[in-house]
Amino acid sequence: MQHLTMNIRTTFLQFTRAMSTALALAAGFACAGAAPAAFAAPNVVATTADLGAIAHAVCGTDATVSILARPGEDPHFVDARPSFLRVLNKADLLIEGGADLEEGWLPPLVNNARNAKIHPGASGRFAAAAEARIALRDVPVTLDRSMGDVHAHGNPHFLLSPANAALVARALAARMALLDPANADAFRARAARFAADIETRVPGWKTRLSSLRGANVITYHRSFDYMLDVFGMRLAGTIEPKPGIEPSGTHIVALIEQARNSGTKLILVEPSRPSRLCERVAHGTGAPLARIPLMPDPPNVPDAYIRFFESIVTSMEKALPPSRQ
Ligand SMILES: [Zn+2]
Repeated sequence: MQHLTMNIRTTFLQFTRAMSTALALAAGFACAGAAPAAFAAPNVVATTADLGAIAHAVCGTDATVSILARPGEDPHFVDARPSFLRVLNKADLLIEGGADLEEGWLPPLVNNARNAKIHPGASGRFAAAAEARIALRDVPVTLDRSMGDVHAHGNPHFLLSPANAALVARALAARMALLDPANADAFRARAARFAADIETRVPGWKTRLSSLRGANVITYHRSFDYMLDVFGMRLAGTIEPKPGIEPSGTHIVALIEQARNSGTKLILVEPSRPSRLCERVAHGTGAPLARIPLMPDPPNVPDAYIRFFESIVTSMEKALPPSRQ
Protein backbone atom coordinates (compact mmCIF):
# COMPACT_ATOMS: atom_id res chain seq x y z
CA MET A 1 0.00 0.00 0.00
CA GLN A 2 2.91 2.30 0.80
CA HIS A 3 4.32 1.67 -2.69
CA LEU A 4 0.93 2.36 -4.19
CA THR A 5 0.65 5.65 -2.32
CA MET A 6 4.16 6.61 -3.44
CA ASN A 7 3.22 5.84 -7.04
CA ILE A 8 0.12 7.98 -6.84
CA ARG A 9 2.12 10.84 -5.33
CA THR A 10 4.80 10.50 -8.00
CA THR A 11 2.16 10.51 -10.73
CA PHE A 12 0.53 13.57 -9.20
CA LEU A 13 3.87 15.41 -9.05
CA GLN A 14 4.56 14.52 -12.68
CA PHE A 15 1.11 15.74 -13.60
CA THR A 16 1.64 19.03 -11.72
CA ARG A 17 5.02 19.58 -13.42
CA ALA A 18 3.56 18.85 -16.85
CA MET A 19 0.75 21.27 -16.19
CA SER A 20 3.18 24.02 -15.09
CA THR A 21 5.10 23.56 -18.32
CA ALA A 22 1.92 23.78 -20.36
CA LEU A 23 0.93 26.95 -18.52
CA ALA A 24 4.35 28.50 -19.12
CA LEU A 25 4.08 27.74 -22.84
CA ALA A 26 0.65 29.27 -22.95
CA ALA A 27 1.66 32.39 -21.06
CA GLY A 28 2.10 34.31 -24.28
CA PHE A 29 -1.58 34.31 -25.15
CA ALA A 30 -3.18 37.60 -26.06
CA CYS A 31 -5.17 38.96 -23.17
CA ALA A 32 -6.30 42.15 -21.48
CA GLY A 33 -5.28 45.12 -23.48
CA ALA A 34 -7.17 44.07 -26.57
CA ALA A 35 -9.85 46.57 -27.49
CA PRO A 36 -12.50 46.62 -24.76
CA ALA A 37 -15.83 45.42 -26.08
CA ALA A 38 -18.94 47.51 -25.82
CA PHE A 39 -21.10 46.38 -22.92
CA ALA A 40 -21.62 42.69 -23.37
CA ALA A 41 -23.29 39.95 -21.40
CA PRO A 42 -21.11 38.74 -18.51
CA ASN A 43 -18.70 35.89 -19.19
CA VAL A 44 -19.45 33.11 -16.75
CA VAL A 45 -17.07 30.16 -16.47
CA ALA A 46 -18.02 26.95 -14.66
CA THR A 47 -15.42 24.36 -13.72
CA THR A 48 -17.64 21.32 -14.30
CA ALA A 49 -20.64 20.39 -16.44
CA ASP A 50 -23.13 20.17 -13.55
CA LEU A 51 -22.27 23.71 -12.46
CA GLY A 52 -22.40 24.74 -16.13
CA ALA A 53 -25.89 23.27 -16.51
CA ILE A 54 -27.08 25.24 -13.47
CA ALA A 55 -25.41 28.39 -14.80
CA HIS A 56 -27.20 27.95 -18.14
CA ALA A 57 -30.51 27.50 -16.33
CA VAL A 58 -30.01 30.65 -14.23
CA CYS A 59 -28.38 32.90 -16.82
CA GLY A 60 -30.35 32.02 -19.94
CA THR A 61 -29.29 34.42 -22.68
CA ASP A 62 -28.17 37.08 -20.18
CA ALA A 63 -24.65 35.65 -19.89
CA THR A 64 -22.17 33.63 -21.91
CA VAL A 65 -21.45 30.37 -20.09
CA SER A 66 -18.25 28.37 -20.69
CA ILE A 67 -17.38 25.08 -19.03
CA LEU A 68 -13.81 23.91 -18.41
CA ALA A 69 -13.98 20.15 -17.69
CA ARG A 70 -15.51 17.81 -20.21
CA PRO A 71 -18.58 15.97 -18.90
CA GLY A 72 -16.74 12.62 -18.94
CA GLU A 73 -13.67 13.83 -17.06
CA ASP A 74 -13.03 13.05 -13.41
CA PRO A 75 -13.67 16.43 -11.77
CA HIS A 76 -10.77 15.84 -9.37
CA PHE A 77 -8.24 15.32 -12.16
CA VAL A 78 -9.10 17.52 -15.12
CA ASP A 79 -6.63 17.88 -17.99
CA ALA A 80 -5.63 21.54 -17.93
CA ARG A 81 -5.65 22.74 -21.52
CA PRO A 82 -4.00 26.03 -22.58
CA SER A 83 -7.37 27.29 -23.86
CA PHE A 84 -8.52 27.40 -20.24
CA LEU A 85 -6.27 30.40 -19.62
CA ARG A 86 -7.91 32.44 -22.37
CA VAL A 87 -11.36 31.59 -21.05
CA LEU A 88 -10.40 32.39 -17.45
CA ASN A 89 -8.70 35.62 -18.49
CA LYS A 90 -12.00 36.93 -19.86
CA ALA A 91 -14.20 35.60 -17.05
CA ASP A 92 -16.40 37.96 -15.06
CA LEU A 93 -17.43 35.10 -12.81
CA LEU A 94 -15.75 31.77 -12.08
CA ILE A 95 -18.07 29.15 -10.58
CA GLU A 96 -16.40 26.27 -8.78
CA GLY A 97 -17.85 23.50 -6.67
CA GLY A 98 -15.40 24.23 -3.90
CA ALA A 99 -14.89 21.89 -0.94
CA ASP A 100 -11.59 20.91 -2.60
CA LEU A 101 -13.24 19.40 -5.70
CA GLU A 102 -10.96 21.32 -8.08
CA GLU A 103 -7.99 21.61 -5.70
CA GLY A 104 -5.75 19.43 -7.90
CA TRP A 105 -6.00 21.52 -11.08
CA LEU A 106 -7.75 24.91 -10.74
CA PRO A 107 -5.40 27.01 -8.50
CA PRO A 108 -2.44 27.15 -10.95
CA LEU A 109 -4.80 28.06 -13.78
CA VAL A 110 -6.31 30.95 -11.85
CA ASN A 111 -2.84 32.11 -10.79
CA ASN A 112 -1.76 32.24 -14.43
CA ALA A 113 -4.92 33.72 -15.95
CA ARG A 114 -4.09 37.38 -15.25
CA ASN A 115 -7.56 38.11 -13.95
CA ALA A 116 -7.78 39.38 -10.36
CA LYS A 117 -11.59 39.31 -10.53
CA ILE A 118 -11.67 35.52 -10.17
CA HIS A 119 -9.16 35.08 -7.39
CA PRO A 120 -10.47 33.39 -4.22
CA GLY A 121 -12.57 35.83 -2.23
CA ALA A 122 -12.96 38.30 -5.12
CA SER A 123 -16.35 39.38 -6.45
CA GLY A 124 -15.96 37.21 -9.54
CA ARG A 125 -15.37 33.97 -7.68
CA PHE A 126 -18.30 31.77 -6.67
CA ALA A 127 -17.54 28.66 -4.60
CA ALA A 128 -20.87 26.84 -4.73
CA ALA A 129 -20.53 24.75 -1.56
CA ALA A 130 -19.91 27.80 0.60
CA GLU A 131 -22.20 30.25 -1.24
CA ALA A 132 -25.18 27.90 -1.15
CA ARG A 133 -24.34 26.77 2.40
CA ILE A 134 -24.39 23.13 1.44
CA ALA A 135 -24.37 20.67 4.33
CA LEU A 136 -21.40 18.56 3.19
CA ARG A 137 -21.24 14.87 4.05
CA ASP A 138 -18.26 13.23 5.71
CA VAL A 139 -16.48 16.38 6.84
CA PRO A 140 -13.49 15.03 8.80
CA VAL A 141 -12.80 16.18 12.33
CA THR A 142 -9.12 16.52 11.47
CA LEU A 143 -7.64 17.20 8.03
CA ASP A 144 -5.76 14.17 6.73
CA ARG A 145 -4.37 13.83 3.22
CA SER A 146 -1.78 11.27 4.26
CA MET A 147 -3.30 8.59 2.05
CA GLY A 148 -3.97 10.94 -0.85
CA ASP A 149 -7.64 11.28 0.07
CA VAL A 150 -9.18 13.78 -2.36
CA HIS A 151 -12.18 14.35 -0.06
CA ALA A 152 -10.10 15.82 2.74
CA HIS A 153 -12.69 18.56 3.45
CA GLY A 154 -15.81 16.43 3.06
CA ASN A 155 -17.60 14.92 0.08
CA PRO A 156 -17.69 17.55 -2.73
CA HIS A 157 -20.14 15.68 -5.04
CA PHE A 158 -23.13 17.44 -3.53
CA LEU A 159 -24.77 18.30 -6.86
CA LEU A 160 -25.90 14.67 -7.12
CA SER A 161 -28.66 15.86 -4.78
CA PRO A 162 -31.31 17.77 -6.76
CA ALA A 163 -32.18 19.82 -3.66
CA ASN A 164 -28.57 20.99 -3.46
CA ALA A 165 -28.64 21.90 -7.16
CA ALA A 166 -31.66 24.12 -6.43
CA LEU A 167 -29.82 25.79 -3.53
CA VAL A 168 -26.85 26.51 -5.79
CA ALA A 169 -29.14 27.95 -8.49
CA ARG A 170 -30.69 30.40 -6.02
CA ALA A 171 -27.32 31.45 -4.60
CA LEU A 172 -25.95 31.88 -8.11
CA ALA A 173 -28.91 34.06 -9.09
CA ALA A 174 -28.15 36.32 -6.11
CA ARG A 175 -24.53 36.67 -7.24
CA MET A 176 -25.52 37.31 -10.86
CA ALA A 177 -27.91 40.00 -9.63
CA LEU A 178 -24.94 41.82 -8.08
CA LEU A 179 -22.88 41.37 -11.23
CA ASP A 180 -25.60 42.51 -13.60
CA PRO A 181 -28.31 44.40 -11.64
CA ALA A 182 -30.31 45.22 -14.79
CA ASN A 183 -31.18 41.52 -15.16
CA ALA A 184 -31.51 40.70 -11.46
CA ASP A 185 -35.19 39.80 -11.68
CA ALA A 186 -34.61 37.51 -14.66
CA PHE A 187 -31.83 35.60 -12.86
CA ARG A 188 -33.98 35.14 -9.77
CA ALA A 189 -37.03 34.08 -11.79
CA ARG A 190 -35.05 31.45 -13.70
CA ALA A 191 -33.53 30.07 -10.48
CA ALA A 192 -37.00 29.84 -8.93
CA ARG A 193 -38.27 28.00 -12.01
CA PHE A 194 -35.30 25.61 -11.89
CA ALA A 195 -35.97 24.86 -8.22
CA ALA A 196 -39.69 24.37 -8.87
CA ASP A 197 -39.00 21.98 -11.78
CA ILE A 198 -36.79 19.88 -9.57
CA GLU A 199 -39.28 19.84 -6.73
CA THR A 200 -41.95 18.63 -9.15
CA ARG A 201 -39.80 15.79 -10.51
CA VAL A 202 -38.30 14.32 -7.34
CA PRO A 203 -41.40 12.43 -6.11
CA GLY A 204 -41.72 10.63 -9.46
CA TRP A 205 -38.05 9.66 -9.45
CA LYS A 206 -38.42 8.31 -5.92
CA THR A 207 -41.46 6.24 -6.91
CA ARG A 208 -39.63 4.73 -9.88
CA LEU A 209 -36.76 3.63 -7.63
CA SER A 210 -38.85 2.65 -4.62
CA SER A 211 -37.68 -0.98 -4.90
CA LEU A 212 -34.18 0.23 -4.03
CA ARG A 213 -35.21 1.89 -0.78
CA GLY A 214 -33.02 0.40 1.95
CA ALA A 215 -30.88 -1.50 -0.60
CA ASN A 216 -27.13 -1.88 -0.13
CA VAL A 217 -25.11 -0.64 -3.11
CA ILE A 218 -21.44 -0.44 -4.01
CA THR A 219 -19.92 2.48 -5.91
CA TYR A 220 -16.45 2.99 -7.36
CA HIS A 221 -15.76 6.44 -5.87
CA ARG A 222 -17.90 8.21 -3.27
CA SER A 223 -19.52 10.12 -6.15
CA PHE A 224 -23.11 9.18 -5.52
CA ASP A 225 -23.50 9.38 -1.73
CA TYR A 226 -25.85 12.37 -1.89
CA MET A 227 -27.98 10.64 -4.54
CA LEU A 228 -28.15 7.46 -2.45
CA ASP A 229 -29.57 9.57 0.38
CA VAL A 230 -32.31 10.89 -1.91
CA PHE A 231 -33.49 7.37 -2.74
CA GLY A 232 -32.87 5.83 0.68
CA MET A 233 -30.08 3.52 -0.49
CA ARG A 234 -27.10 2.54 1.65
CA LEU A 235 -23.44 2.56 0.64
CA ALA A 236 -22.07 -0.90 1.46
CA GLY A 237 -18.56 -0.30 0.12
CA THR A 238 -16.45 1.33 -2.57
CA ILE A 239 -14.23 -0.23 -5.23
CA GLU A 240 -11.48 2.27 -4.44
CA PRO A 241 -10.42 1.99 -0.79
CA LYS A 242 -10.34 5.78 -0.24
CA PRO A 243 -11.36 8.64 -2.54
CA GLY A 244 -8.74 8.95 -5.28
CA ILE A 245 -6.77 5.81 -4.31
CA GLU A 246 -6.50 2.88 -6.75
CA PRO A 247 -7.74 -0.45 -5.35
CA SER A 248 -5.44 -3.37 -4.61
CA GLY A 249 -6.34 -6.98 -5.39
CA THR A 250 -6.68 -7.67 -1.67
CA HIS A 251 -9.18 -4.86 -1.29
CA ILE A 252 -11.30 -6.17 -4.17
CA VAL A 253 -11.41 -9.69 -2.76
CA ALA A 254 -12.47 -8.34 0.65
CA LEU A 255 -15.05 -6.04 -0.94
CA ILE A 256 -16.66 -8.89 -2.89
CA GLU A 257 -16.82 -11.04 0.25
CA GLN A 258 -18.34 -8.19 2.25
CA ALA A 259 -20.82 -7.40 -0.53
CA ARG A 260 -21.99 -11.01 -0.67
CA ASN A 261 -22.50 -11.05 3.08
CA SER A 262 -24.43 -7.78 3.11
CA GLY A 263 -26.69 -8.69 0.15
CA THR A 264 -25.59 -5.91 -2.19
CA LYS A 265 -28.29 -5.14 -4.78
CA LEU A 266 -26.50 -2.86 -7.25
CA ILE A 267 -23.04 -1.71 -8.34
CA LEU A 268 -23.02 1.93 -9.46
CA VAL A 269 -20.05 3.30 -11.41
CA GLU A 270 -19.32 6.29 -13.61
CA PRO A 271 -18.81 5.45 -17.32
CA SER A 272 -15.10 6.36 -17.12
CA ARG A 273 -14.20 3.68 -14.56
CA PRO A 274 -12.26 0.58 -15.73
CA SER A 275 -14.75 -1.88 -17.22
CA ARG A 276 -12.93 -5.10 -16.40
CA LEU A 277 -12.54 -4.34 -12.72
CA CYS A 278 -16.14 -3.16 -12.32
CA GLU A 279 -17.42 -6.25 -14.14
CA ARG A 280 -15.27 -8.46 -11.92
CA VAL A 281 -16.85 -6.92 -8.82
CA ALA A 282 -20.34 -7.27 -10.29
CA HIS A 283 -19.69 -10.88 -11.27
CA GLY A 284 -18.20 -11.69 -7.85
CA THR A 285 -21.10 -10.21 -5.93
CA GLY A 286 -23.83 -11.33 -8.34
CA ALA A 287 -25.28 -7.79 -8.32
CA PRO A 288 -26.10 -5.94 -11.57
CA LEU A 289 -23.73 -3.22 -12.75
CA ALA A 290 -25.22 0.17 -13.64
CA ARG A 291 -23.11 2.78 -15.38
CA ILE A 292 -24.57 6.12 -14.48
CA PRO A 293 -23.42 9.57 -15.57
CA LEU A 294 -21.64 11.83 -13.11
CA MET A 295 -22.31 15.00 -15.12
CA PRO A 296 -24.95 16.37 -17.51
CA ASP A 297 -23.97 15.68 -21.11
CA PRO A 298 -24.57 17.89 -22.99
CA PRO A 299 -24.71 20.53 -20.24
CA ASN A 300 -25.70 23.49 -22.41
CA VAL A 301 -29.23 22.52 -23.44
CA PRO A 302 -32.46 23.60 -21.75
CA ASP A 303 -33.28 21.40 -18.77
CA ALA A 304 -29.81 19.82 -18.85
CA TYR A 305 -29.82 19.08 -15.12
CA ILE A 306 -33.32 17.55 -15.22
CA ARG A 307 -32.33 15.38 -18.20
CA PHE A 308 -29.18 14.36 -16.35
CA PHE A 309 -31.06 13.19 -13.29
CA GLU A 310 -33.69 11.54 -15.45
CA SER A 311 -30.91 9.55 -17.15
CA ILE A 312 -29.51 8.49 -13.77
CA VAL A 313 -32.90 7.14 -12.72
CA THR A 314 -33.41 5.40 -16.07
CA SER A 315 -29.94 3.79 -15.93
CA MET A 316 -30.68 2.32 -12.51
CA GLU A 317 -34.13 1.11 -13.57
CA LYS A 318 -32.65 -0.66 -16.58
CA ALA A 319 -29.95 -2.35 -14.49
CA LEU A 320 -32.42 -3.91 -12.08
CA PRO A 321 -33.81 -7.38 -12.77
CA PRO A 322 -37.43 -7.18 -14.05
CA SER A 323 -38.80 -8.75 -10.87
CA ARG A 324 -37.47 -5.85 -8.81
CA GLN A 325 -39.05 -3.07 -10.91
ZN1 LIG B 1 -14.62 12.72 -5.30
